[in-house]
Amino acid sequence: MAYYPRIICNTNPRHKHQLTLCEGLPPYKCNGCKEYGANIGYCCSSCQNFTLHEVCGAYPDIYVHTFYPDHEFRFRKKTRLSHKCDACGEDLRGFVYEAPTGNLLKPLRFHPLCIALPTSLNYGGHKEHPLRLIMDTGGIFSCSRCNENKSGWSYRCDDMACRLRVDLNCVKVDNHALSNHGIASMNHGSFKR
Ligand SMILES: [Zn+2]
Ligand SMILES: [Zn+2]
Ligand SMILES: [Zn+2]
Ligand SMILES: [Zn+2]
Ligand SMILES: [Zn+2]
Repeated sequence: MAYYPRIICNTNPRHKHQLTLCEGLPPYKCNGCKEYGANIGYCCSSCQNFTLHEVCGAYPDIYVHTFYPDHEFRFRKKTRLSHKCDACGEDLRGFVYEAPTGNLLKPLRFHPLCIALPTSLNYGGHKEHPLRLIMDTGGIFSCSRCNENKSGWSYRCDDMACRLRVDLNCVKVDNHALSNHGIASMNHGSFKR
């Protein structure tokens, strides 16, 4: 069974106005985490073009992730300095989940979309078997989807005959059906509205 992060509480309002969950949205850049989204999201009727991912608009202030059962990840609107996501390795530009570690200078930080990924996934590009979320194994791997060399967390097919491994960017693009709109990266490039 897929694991989803455990909800503890949600008290931090993510926006100053009331948000409505909308469907059928064109591609947007999330005003919270600054990654792309499409189709579904929280919209503000008072601000023009203010949209948040479902995860960014409504997910809890505190997460416990199955990979770090002893850590409480806390929602923050922004980090003071620029940092990279410890799951996908890409820049953190807005909303972030952060947990202190033993090393005060190196807390763990994740994109909301990364920390909310399930441990098991039915991936559109591989219908034969479910893929399993695995932590950074320290090595470089070639993503079966984009063929680029990647590191960090990934999804892998445990069937030995498949050897399929997909990086988080490609999985998130697929989850949000962004390739239908010509978007191949969650936070690079641009698109026409
Ligand atoms: Zn977002
Ligand atoms: Zn607003
Ligand atoms: Zn990330
Ligand atoms: Zn497989
Ligand atoms: Zn890829």
